[in-house]
Amino acid sequence: MRFETKAIHAGLNIGNPSKSIVPPISPSTIFEIDAEGRDDSDLHYSRLANPNRLQFEHLIATLEEGEAAAAFSSGIAAATAVLQALRPGDHLIIPEDVYAGNRKMVKQLMEPWGLKTSFIPMTDPAVVEEHIRPETRLIWIETPSNPLMQITDIEEVSRVAAEQGIKVLVDNTWPTPVNQLPLLLGADLVLHSTSKYFGGHSDILGGAIVAKESDEFFERIRFNQQMGGAVPSPQDCWLLSRSTRTLSYRMKGHNEHASAVVEYLTNHKRIEDVYYPGLPSHPNHEVAVRQMKGFGGMISFLLDGSADEAVRVVGGSRLIKRATSLGGVESTWEHRQSSEGEGSVSPVNLIRISVGLEHPEDIIADLESALSV
Ligand code: PLP
Repeated sequence: MRFETKAIHAGLNIGNPSKSIVPPISPSTIFEIDAEGRDDSDLHYSRLANPNRLQFEHLIATLEEGEAAAAFSSGIAAATAVLQALRPGDHLIIPEDVYAGNRKMVKQLMEPWGLKTSFIPMTDPAVVEEHIRPETRLIWIETPSNPLMQITDIEEVSRVAAEQGIKVLVDNTWPTPVNQLPLLLGADLVLHSTSKYFGGHSDILGGAIVAKESDEFFERIRFNQQMGGAVPSPQDCWLLSRSTRTLSYRMKGHNEHASAVVEYLTNHKRIEDVYYPGLPSHPNHEVAVRQMKGFGGMISFLLDGSADEAVRVVGGSRLIKRATSLGGVESTWEHRQSSEGEGSVSPVNLIRISVGLEHPEDIIADLESALSV
């Protein structure tokens, strides 16, 4: 079956004895134990598993071509559960421009816990290889990166890592499985902030880990999900499955609208540079073409001007909302350095836009008026 079909049908029959076309929401926290006693495969208590979570986990694992998935109450909870599946003293390689919230979590939560880290540039696989140590257990990839839109070669880094028995995780939040399938390129794990494109309507907070194999490392992530307890509610899992049914069509719209906006921005005299992997001028365009089916709805661009001018431009929009996060049907943008705060690696004149599903001509008209202030 093709992606669009799987997105609509996968997971529907799990924990759905009435065979409802739309499965019901199961708010119950507890499930009755058989008179003969409890079987380990039975549902028992909602923190451990519940029908709606099982449905969503099956759905996202299917779409990412993985064997198993664990859903969390946020993307950052999913990230923390993976890192806590390592051991104190283990070494992590992670991009220097990784999503700012993950950088803060690694530095302030995981480093004091005992994780050793190297924050490095990841666009050259040879540089990644140079940073591998005997105690390196995990290489973290975010491609395209946030907000610099740098591209890492998933296949090449995964090949180098596999030779040394190191796991590779790809944060696939921005491309989504519609545009990029890291597990088919050799990665072991995929991370999602499902708060973004999977949710797609800026009304669900969630995260997920998908594993290529349901191995011992994934079992540790599962343990952290159940015993760390950062699990999503049945209501959120239900809503997330509902949104995921239309993911492929929303992503087609995001890809198409973003490329129209990129074309407009690259020809605008007030723009110094546009960061978008679909542009032939992008330094890693050739890798992006090899590993991505579409280039996504996120664009970063540099205004030819100061930080204050960039903030003023963002302040001048009417249709495009000033907000952080991304992946909703509505277009949003922000002066990224102000959002990231201390430790930000964003250039002062960088504006990041999440291109939504409004008509692209309306988005461009709003950009035109904001850029003329
Ligand atoms: N990964 C990426 C690439 C993100 O952009 C974000 C949030 O912005 C996260 C992870 C964290 O997800 P959440 O906000 O759901 O915790």
